[in-house]
Order: sequence, then structure tokens, then C-alpha cells
Amino acid sequence: MAEFAKIVLKSGKDQSLKRFHPWVFSGAIKKVYGNLNEGDLVAVYSNKDEFLGLGHYQIGSIAVRIVSFTQVTPDYNFWKNKIERAWNLRKKLGFVQNPETNVFRLIHAEGDGMPGLVVDFYNGTAVMQIHSVGMYFIREELVKALREVLGEHLKAVYDKSTKTLPYKADIEPTDKFLFGEKGETEVLEYGLKFKVDWESGQKTGFFIDQRENRLLVEKYAQNRDVLNMFCYTGGFSFYAMKGGANLVHSVDASAKAIDLTNENVELNFPNDPRHKAFAADAFEYLKDIQDKYDLIILDPPAFAKHRNSLHQALQGYKRINTRAFEQIRSGGILFTFSCSQVVAKDKFREAVFSAAAISGRTVRILHQLVQPVDHPVNIYHPESEYLKGLVLYVE
Ligand code: SAH
Repeated sequence: MAEFAKIVLKSGKDQSLKRFHPWVFSGAIKKVYGNLNEGDLVAVYSNKDEFLGLGHYQIGSIAVRIVSFTQVTPDYNFWKNKIERAWNLRKKLGFVQNPETNVFRLIHAEGDGMPGLVVDFYNGTAVMQIHSVGMYFIREELVKALREVLGEHLKAVYDKSTKTLPYKADIEPTDKFLFGEKGETEVLEYGLKFKVDWESGQKTGFFIDQRENRLLVEKYAQNRDVLNMFCYTGGFSFYAMKGGANLVHSVDASAKAIDLTNENVELNFPNDPRHKAFAADAFEYLKDIQDKYDLIILDPPAFAKHRNSLHQALQGYKRINTRAFEQIRSGGILFTFSCSQVVAKDKFREAVFSAAAISGRTVRILHQLVQPVDHPVNIYHPESEYLKGLVLYVE
């Protein structure tokens, strides 16, 4: 192993690393030896001088993101190997050269052993979102490795990290193509077409993580009147239309999202009178939907990004779900989600259960939903399991 600055943890603070949890919180640090700058690799040791791991150092509550639990020197081949393993898994899962679906998550941060790095694959274009300064410093190397591993499958790499990198860091990131140029922006998911705007869209441009849950909506949509609340680019709506819904209303606070939804509907179901999209605030819209719908999808943005907004977030989930329970038609189906990493599964359930209780309706759980296989969960890092959902039958 090459020479790195060294962090020694306080006594007793080594347990989570010994169980391969890849984060070191700043409060666990006893002492730093050597010159340590943000983004550097740093070796982490226990109070008894046992080597625990090597990771990227960052200023903030998560001080180190571990990239290796063994003593290695992370050179080009080290990173290439990690990318290769992520790509091989996607191949085994059937995502590569799939005629129906050409959009998937290629690298899911901790889930793929690369904390701080997310890469989504859009029909030849890889869109990178980097969360740590350490990963940002090696981005060119990562691009080189992506090109070598993916070969002709890769046409371009777009770096979209300005919003995800720590804003206080001493770097000046810009969103741009690091390889290739803007090409095809239409992607396929289970045969449905979507225009993806990775330059100005939210996240990497598309919420890939709801793929399987959207497919489930298709199965329940026959003859139903559907509300797709927080529709963004309309994903759930087309699946509902494909599944034979009577009508589909897509609602989002962003006018831009509504335009994208209408465009995407036209691509898949030109001139279909069943669909209407409205730009409106969810809390307002849900005030008065009476018994208009018998399939409602609630897929809000992460109401809590940090632990300190947890209480407020849970109140938010409770409020919107109460409105849905109170007004959904008898025999209705509610798909309700939380994508906040800091909201644990049981907390989200409690919020939904309280909402059901307030409405007084009889409610059964039909499905418990999670993120799809291309967003694998690192078994030692429960936080990488962030998407949770319930499908509920409301009498
Ligand atoms: N269901 C979507 C992803 C939803 S992302 C999909 O499958 O792709 C969350 C969306 O909620 C964003 O598009 C955002 O514009 C919208 N949003 C945020 N706050 C809102 C509010 N108060 N009312 C309505 N929409 C809101």
C-alpha cells in the first residue's frame, strides 16, 4: 500500500467498519496524522492500530467513504475492476443489449462498492453523478475505465455533478460531456419510449428506480381512473395507459415536468384522449379529488434529505396519504412511495398506517415494494436501500 495520511478512530468506534459499513462519521475520529486534504485517500485505523479501511476523506458529517477494506493502492486497475464487476452484474441481470429496456443504473454507489459515485446508462450515454470530492478528482480515470470496460456499448459520458458535490468544497465543477457528445435522447423501458433530458432534468434525467413498480401499475390499471401524483416525466402514466386505464391524470408542481409528460405521452399514445396533465401543487390538488379516482400513485420527492427534517417529512407523508385514503373510491388501489434515504422503512409505514387510521377505511397491504436489481443494496450498508413503497387495497 502506498503512503497515505492516517486517521485513528476513538476507542469503540471501529465496530461498524469491522462489519464493513463503509462510512466513518466525523465524531468517531480521534486523531489525524499527516497532511490530509479534502478528496484525499486516507487510511483508517482503530485505537489499537489495526488497519480498518482506505477511503476518500471529505469535510462533513460523513468524513470518510471507504473504498477498500484491505490494504491496496487504488490505481487505475483497481477502479477498472470495480466498474467491470458492476457491468458484469448488469450483464448477468439481462440489461445489456436488451431490446425492450436500454436504460438502467450501472453504478449504484455503496451498492457497487463505489461510495460517492452514481452512473446511469441511457441507451449509450452514461450520466455520472458524483457526490464525493475524492471521486471527482479521479473522474477522468473513471471515464477511461468506463470506455475500456463498456467498449462499443458506450458512446458518451456526461458528468452532472454540480448539484451533488459538496458546495463548500474547493472545486469548480461544471456539467459537461467528458467523452463523446449529445446523441440519442430517446430511451426504451419495457418497450415504452421516453425522452430524457439529462442536461437539465432532475437527478440524472429519469427516475430509473421505479421501473418495476411502474410495470406493476400496468397490471392493476385495467378500467381504472388513475391519478399519477408527482408524475415528473410521466412514467407511471404510460404504464397505466398501456394497462388499459379509463383515464389518467398526471400532476406535478413543475410546468416543465408537465410539458415533458405531454411530450412522452404523444410519443407512446398519440392523440389519446384518456390522458390529461396538470401543473399543480400536490397538497392543493389532493384537497378535493372526492371519489374521482380508483388508482392513485403518490411518488413524492425525498421530503427529508437530512435527519433533522425527518419529523417534518413524516408529517408530509402522513398528510398526503390521509388525503388519498379519505377520497379514493371504494375498491381503490393506492401505490405510495418514499425515496428518502433517511426515512427508514418502518417509519414510512407508521406514517402510512396513521394516515389509514385517520381515514377509518379498511386497508390491506397487497405488495411491499423496493428498488430494482440494478440498484443493489450493499448488505453491510442498509442506507443504500432507500426506495420503499406499499400497494394498498382500500375498501
Ligand atoms: N414518479 C416520477 C418521479 C417523481 S420525482 C417518475 O416515475 O419518474 C418527484 C416529482 O415531484 C418532481 O417531478 C417534482 O417536480 C414534483 N414535486 C415536488 N414537490 C411537489 C408538490 N408540492 N406538488 C406536486 N409536485 C411536486
